[in-house]
Formats: sequence, C-alpha cells, structure tokens
Amino acid sequence: MLGASPITELGLGDDQHYLGVNGMFDQWSALFFEKAEKLNLILNLNNNNQSSNKFLIHYSFIIKKISIDSQYQQTPANWKQNVAKVTENAILTSPEYNKKVIKVSLDLGNLSPYESFAPGDFISVAPENSLESTDQFLLLLGLLDQKDCLFSIKKTSFSDVFDNDKSGIYTENEQSVKTLFEIVRTMLDINSIPKRLFFKYASCFSNLEFEREKLEELGSPEGLDLYYSYIIVPKRTVLETIADFPSLCGNVPVACLLDMFSRIYKKSYSISNYDPDGKQVSLTVAVVSYRKNARMPLRLGTCSNYLLGVEKGSLVTYDLHRGSMTLPPYKGYGHSSTPIIMVGPGTGLAPFMSFLQYRILNGSYNNTLFFGCRSETKDFIYKSDLHELVIKSHLKLFTAFSRDSPNVVYVQNVILEQYKLVADLICNKNAFVYVSGRLGQMPVDVQNAFAEAITKAGVMGMDITQSQNYLIAMKKTGRYQQECWD
Ligand SMILES: Cc1cc2nc3c(=O)[nH]c(=O)nc-3n(C[C@H](O)[C@H](O)[C@H](O)COP(=O)(O)OP(=O)(O)OC[C@H]3O[C@@H](n4cnc5c(N)ncnc54)[C@H](O)[C@@H]3O)c2cc1C
Repeated sequence: MLGASPITELGLGDDQHYLGVNGMFDQWSALFFEKAEKLNLILNLNNNNQSSNKFLIHYSFIIKKISIDSQYQQTPANWKQNVAKVTENAILTSPEYNKKVIKVSLDLGNLSPYESFAPGDFISVAPENSLESTDQFLLLLGLLDQKDCLFSIKKTSFSDVFDNDKSGIYTENEQSVKTLFEIVRTMLDINSIPKRLFFKYASCFSNLEFEREKLEELGSPEGLDLYYSYIIVPKRTVLETIADFPSLCGNVPVACLLDMFSRIYKKSYSISNYDPDGKQVSLTVAVVSYRKNARMPLRLGTCSNYLLGVEKGSLVTYDLHRGSMTLPPYKGYGHSSTPIIMVGPGTGLAPFMSFLQYRILNGSYNNTLFFGCRSETKDFIYKSDLHELVIKSHLKLFTAFSRDSPNVVYVQNVILEQYKLVADLICNKNAFVYVSGRLGQMPVDVQNAFAEAITKAGVMGMDITQSQNYLIAMKKTGRYQQECWD
C-alpha cells in the first residue's frame, strides 16, 4: 500500500531445530545484511564506525550495590506475584523405580472470581535454584564474598527490547532490593544450556587470551559446530560451562548478570484435581533427571526438582492460566451426557484427573480413559483412585504397561484393540477426544490409532484417508483436542 517491498524473505526461527533458533537465524541474517548492504541501508551503521561484528554490552537493568547503613530492606521474594502454600508433597511412584512422579498440592487462598480455575486449566510455577548450586555459581564467578550484599534492581530503557522476562514485575521507575544470593537463586537459570549470547558476554570479561578466543568462537555463527558439539550434544549447563572457563572468575560484573545469563522462567503444570471452592490445586509432576551418557553428570530439570524439594508449609510463586482443552458444552449447568475419551500416558493423566472429578461431581459418567506407563507396579499413578471409579461405573479404563511384557505395548495399541468401542463412541455417540502428555511421536501415533480403529470398525465404510479426514474435521470443531509438551 505504501510502496514498500521486502528486503528479504520472512525468516521463521524454529525452536525444534537441532541448533535451536540460531540454526535458521544465522543464514537469514547473513542474507539480510548482504541485501541491506547492497541497498545502502546500513550506511549509517558503517559511518558510525561500529563494526557489525563488535559486540556491544547492553544493560537491561541497573544493578547497584547498596551500602550496609542505608535504609533499604530486602524486597520480599514474591514481590507483586501470586503465592500459594504447599499443603502436600508426595511421591506417587514406587521406591524401586528410578524415576519419580510427585503430587504437589497447593492452597491458593482466596482467589478473586476472575481468577477461579476450571478443569483443563494449568498453573505456571516460578522455580528457584538450589542453595548448593547458587553457592557454586557464586564461587565459580568469584562473587561468594558478596553473596549477602544488597543490590537494587531497576529496569533500563533497553529492558523491553533485551530482557526475556515477561513477568511484568519490573515496571519503569520501580526497583526491588535483593541480596546477590537471592538474585542468582530466583532470577538466573543456571542449570539451563547457555545461549550463544552468553558466550558473547563472557568473551568480553575473560582475561586469558586462549579462553577469550574460545568464548568468541562459541558465540559466533562460525563457531556453530563447536557450540553444537560442546553445548547442545552433551546438554552442558551454565554451571558446568563457567567451571570450564576459570578466567571468568572475579571478572564478571554483577551489573551484567541479568543480561549475560538466561532468566529463570515459570513452568506450566496441568491442574490435576477439581475443587468447587477453587482454592486447592494439585499438580502431578514428573521429576526430570537424566544422564546424556555414563561419563556426563546427572542433569536435573530445574522446576520439577525445585517442586520435589518444596516442603509442606513453604510458599510457591505461581500464575493461573486457562487451558486449551475444554469439556463438552453442557446441557444444563455442569452435567453433559456427551461421552469423552481421554488418552493420557504418564503425567498426561494430570488434566484428566481434573476432568473426571468435575464430570463425576456433575453426574456425567460416560468417561473412557486410555492410560499408559512403564510398569503397573512402579509408575501407575492414581491407580487406586481410578480403580474406584471403575468399580462405581464412572469410568472405563484401559491400560498399557510398556515394560511389563515382552511385547512393548503403548496406549495406541490398546486404542486399536478397543476399535469397536472407540469407533462407536466417536462416530455414533459424538464423543469428545482428548490427548495429553509428552510431545514427540505419541500424539501422532494416537491419532493414527483412532483413524485405524474407525476404519477397522467399518463405520460408514470409511477408508484410512477418510478416517484421518474425519479426525481432522473433529479437531477443527474442537471435538478432538490435545495438550502436549516437550
Ligand atoms: C500446558 C503445559 C502443561 C504441562 N503439564 C505438565 C504436568 O502436568 N506434569 C508434568 O510433569 N509436566 C507438565 N508440563 C511440562 C512442564 O512444564 C516442564 O516442562 C517439565 O516439568 C520440565 O521442566 P524442568 O524445569 O523440570 O526441566 P528443564 O530444566 O526444562 O529440563 C527439561 C529438558 O531436559 C531435556 N531432557 C529431559 N529428559 C531428557 C533425556 N532423557 N535426555 C535428554 N534430554 C532430556 C529436554 O530437553 C527437556 O526439554 C506441562 C507443560 C505445558 C506447556
């Protein structure tokens, strides 16, 4: 309309790319600058004598040390945020099992009517680093002697552009006061994988030539292969990386911490209960711990391990969110005669515990659940609750225990075994279908199993393509919903 034309094609970063968003961005930005240069669009930059590969340090926050005799007091850790009290923290898996799933119950207190939650909603929890890893971080950077010093934190005009924190806690002209220890514990994601930007910052502070060169390489597009083999493949954490570069010790200014290191961010958990008073929520959390290989240290998921450690009575910072899955429209308040089919392997079961409690409370008993885990005796979470519902005829339950028999069985296999029931519910009874759990192959395999089931049952003579199209149409009208996560 205004006569503009694109300089280059739109570049879309892909988080799932094996190199992260950089995998796409490097090629795109090289092309963009090449074209922009030809069009003389970066003339001003060159005239200002700023070489395009010179890294400029930005400060999203002003962090100032406060003298001991000042009137400042530490701002509460949960400043301007929702806090919930932990009322229960229990391990749901068997002690013999090497993975843990926990149930964490929280008292949200008195929420306003706008904040009440519905089945399918989730909350996001703000994790904190462990005391040990916080100390280790400060030690590695030579900042341990300042751990109890108070610092004031205030946004700069760069903050909206460069800071990745979307919590909205820091608005202009407001400042909080924290000890250095609290800044690191509650604000920096020190167990995450360092981004390339970290290496750019780090290269400015290293005073050893060899290390500085390596840091520069790791932060540059040319060093992408090194970044891939050194960081991405072993999933090396921030803590392990700074231990590999001792020249950073004593040289990184506190003022740079919030820009140099990724900010810790909230993680989402489906609410796995229904409380008519809207005060109590339970979360069902798979605790992430894994080794990339026998030589690498154990890696611990930040938020799930934080939740594993929260004690009864302690406070957790959270936000409440509307979920993407919603129950069938009601005929009259609360009750719906529409059947539902839920597929929830592992902690994918979490939102369905909430669905079931809500529906049963409202007299909707036509519920079918496909649940899968490794072993009936080790990680069949909520087994007795589900069996009780089966006995009361409030639930049809089908299980798949992948490691209990020589033939590996997953939920999709059991869906196919139940093809007559599944096809009848979907095609004749207008059932709503819900799929929840880890991303990857599961949601695809489950959809294929439903399509095969419909075809095998011979409903309306649909072949496999027609069955797939039928499911796609269901997705469009909200009758097939899924909520899956990485
Ligand atoms: C809407 C929504 C609802 C959710 N509901 C739930 C829920 O009810 N219950 C639940 O447990 N989670 C749920 N999640 C996932 C949850 O938000 C977190 O992503 C999860 O707990 C991991 O967070 P973390 O901080 O512990 O791990 P992180 O520190 O983020 O580490 C996790 C990362 O570690 C890596 N990783 C994990 N295992 C391995 C392995 N074996 N090999 C290599 N790399 C590995 C993966 O890259 C993974 O992304 C939900 C997510 C969303 C978006």
